[in-house]
Amino acid sequence: MIRSTVADVDLDAIAHNFRAIRDFLQSEARSSKPEGPGIVAVVKANAYGHGSGPVALALERAGATMLACADIEEAIVLRRAGVRCEILVFGALGVSDVTGIFEYTLTPTISTPSAGKALQEAAARRGTRLKYHLKIDTGMNRLGLRHDNLPRTLPDLLASPNLELDGVYTHFATADDPDHPLMEEQRVRFERVRAYLDTLGVRPRLVHAANSAALLRDARVWYDLVRPGLLLYGVVPPPLGSTIPLRPALSLRSRLVAVKHIRTGETVSYGARFTAQRPTRVAVVPAGYADGIDLRMAGRGVALVRGRRAHIVGAVCMDMILLDITDIEAYPGDAVVLLGTQGDERLDVREMAAAIGTIPWEILCRLGSRIERIYSVG
Ligand SMILES: *Cc1c(COP(=O)(O)O)cnc(C)c1O
Repeated sequence: MIRSTVADVDLDAIAHNFRAIRDFLQSEARSSKPEGPGIVAVVKANAYGHGSGPVALALERAGATMLACADIEEAIVLRRAGVRCEILVFGALGVSDVTGIFEYTLTPTISTPSAGKALQEAAARRGTRLKYHLKIDTGMNRLGLRHDNLPRTLPDLLASPNLELDGVYTHFATADDPDHPLMEEQRVRFERVRAYLDTLGVRPRLVHAANSAALLRDARVWYDLVRPGLLLYGVVPPPLGSTIPLRPALSLRSRLVAVKHIRTGETVSYGARFTAQRPTRVAVVPAGYADGIDLRMAGRGVALVRGRRAHIVGAVCMDMILLDITDIEAYPGDAVVLLGTQGDERLDVREMAAAIGTIPWEILCRLGSRIERIYSVG
């Protein structure tokens, strides 16, 4: 049994996007590194709502150097799904149970001195040496050792006998805003950190900085690895554009379950906030805010029915939305597309995000857990 509202996830599109990004990185790569940087495929938050196990395995097969996720628990889900390649955990480990790092062979990020101490102790207890990536805060002011305080914070960490620095990275706060000067400031600060590490004789094997937006904007921040998330799913971070031939990997579809005639002056749905200005035909779609259809879609969002755009009218309910299909000849059982193509029309996640003043990342991550993901290959 399967609900009417489903998300189709095209794993071939994800592999295709991976290769398209790799080709782009190679075609623009400096002659000193013609193969281009490696790719850390970011699959946090259930692979941006696409389903982490199947997506991670597809990216591993496509040749990802490493996968990355937000916390140890997400990484364990990947291991249990059969992922064998290296997994980098981005998050702070300050209050985490770190046993999973050792039991599931994960690569932690150390972004605070206390995480360094906890991991050193845990590795010493096990009599092992643990490789880690060091996170430097160059201006995001979230996680990471401050770029301008390393002489105080780094010596203890570097002296930890059971820890081995394998990578160093930073994260940009404004990569999707070409007018903002902070990305360039962060880049310069990160360069200074690398030079400082060099004076200490520390030469990490892997240096990385670029998320999707940063890798599109500046080849100087590619270093050894790039860390795309959104691009892998076929979406370019707005407002940026790109010539990389990407394919959106997810479409969201449903069916009309009922059609109703409303008289002029009558209202529709909770709060009676939509009033019919003419005799109106309203269709019910069984997908609501519990499925990730944002409340702000009321009066702003559209769906495709019979290859045409139908407006969402009235309040979004927990399990349903209502479409105005007065000008569309449609009947119960007809296919509805909330994201994706139908006929010659297409709705993409950037458009949906723009319509309600949010970002594509949020829309994808919030797709409800009760929506079945149907995976297609080939
Ligand atoms: C989420 C994340 C990324 C990927 O970001 P996109 O904008 O989706 O490419 C890269 N690096 C870190 C540290 C992240 O948290």
